[in-house]
Amino acid sequence: MSKVIVLTGAGGVLCGALAKALAKEGHKIAVLDLRKEAADSVANEINEAGGVAIGVAANVLEKESLDLAKTEVNNKLGLCDILINGAGGNHPLGTTSNPFFEMEDLNNKAEGFKTFFDLDAKGVEFTFNLNFLGTLIPTQVFAKDMVGRKGCSILNISSMNAFTPLTKIPAYSGAKAAVSNFTQWLAVHFSKVGIRVNALAPGFFLTDQNRSLLTKSDGSLTPRGNQIIDQTPMGKFGEPEDLVGTTLWLCGEGAAFVTGVVIPIDGGFSAYSGV
Ligand code: NAD
Repeated sequence: MSKVIVLTGAGGVLCGALAKALAKEGHKIAVLDLRKEAADSVANEINEAGGVAIGVAANVLEKESLDLAKTEVNNKLGLCDILINGAGGNHPLGTTSNPFFEMEDLNNKAEGFKTFFDLDAKGVEFTFNLNFLGTLIPTQVFAKDMVGRKGCSILNISSMNAFTPLTKIPAYSGAKAAVSNFTQWLAVHFSKVGIRVNALAPGFFLTDQNRSLLTKSDGSLTPRGNQIIDQTPMGKFGEPEDLVGTTLWLCGEGAAFVTGVVIPIDGGFSAYSGV
């Protein structure tokens, strides 16, 4: 059955791919993004391929902006059946330069070198707001359409770093742990009114955000890129399409009794101790 699916951050790599895959299944897609032209570009691609989509400008941190987006979605596509909270990301000011703090770091005055003691609260705040509030506020707006209706669900995008934090990115790891925790909380909270709430925990996917961290200009891996592949039993980065099957399952009737789960899609990364 065709559903109205709202995806935030869908002008980006992963949720753009999900939007296109869900459109192919016959669903009507609202592509929300802070960058209107990126949202329009994904929506145009869907429409040109024979699907139904609209691009909508929306800031997941501003309720007024989301209220306007919801009015547009309701007028053009109908009530929202499924919300995928995809907007998210990290900030360099919430990131350390090195994985471990060493004694000599106390005297390292190199430009741009950041230890734990240099983390900027503004960078940490940005990351927590974007990932956590950026999941909670759109849910407050769009879940109103779902209360008491059949077949409605919410899919959050957490990360494998929510299970065990990755080195260097304490703010992003903590913010995604909050998204996983909120997924369980909301699943319980909405359990009596027919709204299921689940999350994907993607592992490492090569995207514009992390390409320069993981690969060099000639395409070979950086030391961190190599470390990730060594730690991934399946020995490769994920492709955006790897998220599609689990998304279709969690948003469909086959998962009608599934709520409050966070599914790792990480080639075994979070299952592997490294030994
Ligand atoms: P991306 O940067 O390609 O997409 C994120 C999109 O969110 C962008 O289009 C951006 O414009 C939009 N956005 C940013 N701030 C916004 C705001 N305030 N309001 C609305 N939209 C906003 O990133 P991606 O790699 O496709 O990541 C998608 C999701 O998956 C994110 O939540 C990310 O944290 C998560 N994730 C990514 C990976 C990975 O390896 N790429 C791994 C685990 C989890």
